[in-house]
Amino acid sequence: MELYDTHAHLFDDQLAADVAGVIERARLARVTRILAVGTTADSSAACQQTAVQFPNVVRSSAGIHPNHAGEAQPGDWDRIVELAKLPEVIALGETGLDLYWKDCPLPLQQDYFDRHIRLSQQTGLPLVIHQRETTQEILAMLREARQRGELRGVMHSYTGTADEVKEFIALGLHISFAGMLTFKKSDDLRAVAKTIPAERLLVETDSPYLTPHPFRGQRPNEPRLVVHTAECLAEVRSLSLGELAALTTANAQRLFTRR
Ligand SMILES: [Zn+2]
Repeated sequence: MELYDTHAHLFDDQLAADVAGVIERARLARVTRILAVGTTADSSAACQQTAVQFPNVVRSSAGIHPNHAGEAQPGDWDRIVELAKLPEVIALGETGLDLYWKDCPLPLQQDYFDRHIRLSQQTGLPLVIHQRETTQEILAMLREARQRGELRGVMHSYTGTADEVKEFIALGLHISFAGMLTFKKSDDLRAVAKTIPAERLLVETDSPYLTPHPFRGQRPNEPRLVVHTAECLAEVRSLSLGELAALTTANAQRLFTRR
């Protein structure tokens, strides 16, 4: 069995002190690939360096998270554009829009999301998209972008409705599930997970956040725990864990490649 954790924040304070240990524990748990997701120019550069250091396991994204767009310095976007040229960088983001935390005014978030979308369409690198209380705002920008060309990417840590997910799929996007899928109260989300076309399904930890059941609330999440979300998704889809792992790993390898 091989699992691909398509979203891990290895440079969050809770994991940064022991990145090598986190990667080794993941490897022992048959997580053979980790997408290390950047949220600022500095963390994106650190993710790329880690991908250089652990070439068999780690790949990296480069981007500026909507909640960090307000702190971005002049020149930070240029660093993202430069990182996107390197072979270890196989995705752009984390980008998107967030009206929950109110860390950054919406027009500035939209400016950065638009930069990521345009760079994705220029380079062919897939987008890693964060949404929080912004489904309609994100759909509006993606519909407009789809008029200009193909869209590649993933709605990460998906928690929306079955109706909303249909439009994301129609726009060409993949759907990734994190630990929330395993929570007791998530019956509606599990029902949504049943409706996704098999070739668009991915799994992730979003570590160190969203620790899956049965470890919820006990410890920071790590890539090795992605198996709990994979087990839950396998049950929802009436597949064995091995089948679900093979499916989602193949999907991730197809999406996260440089063209
Ligand atoms: Zn994230």
